[in-house]
Amino acid sequence: MSFVPDRYCRQSLLPEIGQTGQRRLNESRAVIVGLGALGSCVANNLVRAGVGQVVLIDRDLVELHNLQRQILYSEDDLNVPKAVAAAAILKKINTSVEVETHTKDFNVSNAESLLAGADVVLDGTDNLQTRFLINDVCVKHTIPWVYAGAVGTGGMVMPILPGKTPCFRCLVPSQPGPGVLQTCDIAGVLNTIPSLIASLECTLAYQILTGQPDVGDKTSYLVHVDAWRQTFDRMSVGQRADCPCCREGRFESLDAVSREMITSLCGRDAIQITPAAQMEIPLPELEMRLSRLGEVRLTPYMLTFRSGKEEFSIFRDGRAIIKGTKDEATARSLYARYIGL
Ligand SMILES: [Zn+2]
Repeated sequence: MSFVPDRYCRQSLLPEIGQTGQRRLNESRAVIVGLGALGSCVANNLVRAGVGQVVLIDRDLVELHNLQRQILYSEDDLNVPKAVAAAAILKKINTSVEVETHTKDFNVSNAESLLAGADVVLDGTDNLQTRFLINDVCVKHTIPWVYAGAVGTGGMVMPILPGKTPCFRCLVPSQPGPGVLQTCDIAGVLNTIPSLIASLECTLAYQILTGQPDVGDKTSYLVHVDAWRQTFDRMSVGQRADCPCCREGRFESLDAVSREMITSLCGRDAIQITPAAQMEIPLPELEMRLSRLGEVRLTPYMLTFRSGKEEFSIFRDGRAIIKGTKDEATARSLYARYIGL
């Protein structure tokens, strides 16, 4: 077919892609949730590969410590919304791709509309709560998605095709204890691992978009990579008989997240976040983790952490008050960063 542009000839030469596969990529819509290290590497790959519509969702601004690994941003982009900065460079890389940007918090109020019409959803998030929400929307609307995560020197990917494979809650049945999970803000991240994981993630997306996902009937697989130890492990993942999401059709995150309350505390330059789920934060453990990053004070009831101009106070039940900002998205972002939810 002559309308396939020349710029993709090295890709359409591959028997795995071919002219037909390239045309499918050109006609596809991919949504990337989160534009940190993973998301920016993913966006770069998809736009260069000619995925026709690429949707970018991120609530954050570019910060100096992002530049170590978030390949789409430069020093000129500091304090610019990531989705805006990313779109500017992506449109220069490939003018034939339609890049749509959303500088917003991805949450229950907008998740279904933001993912509507996607041929594939790619994980660029940094927390499990958002992944549970993506999983609920994708299973509910039968949208394929690729789970991916990277922290420290390791990372993992798993293709999820609702109706065909297990879902994310078959892999991670419930939210682990808050404050226990590793996040890049606490554990650090080697800059080679997000690009490696993003490459695997995009390859899975190309397989899905060209109709060649390498998954079995009711099985999928998880690939775990450690860049420092130079190890790749692939393990199969089966469907859980009691999975509330893909077996029973109950979308608990779509319901639960809606009860999370983010309140602006009048006249105090502060935001309060009240989580939806019952939880018990292990404050002494959190203190140990956060003490490497800033000044921490612990009482039996709460932990206060100061970093930069914001002061973050968290109670044992997960409620947090973030002082020094009036912006809900900034507060939610700090909550995800330090608590890992
Ligand atoms: Zn499931």
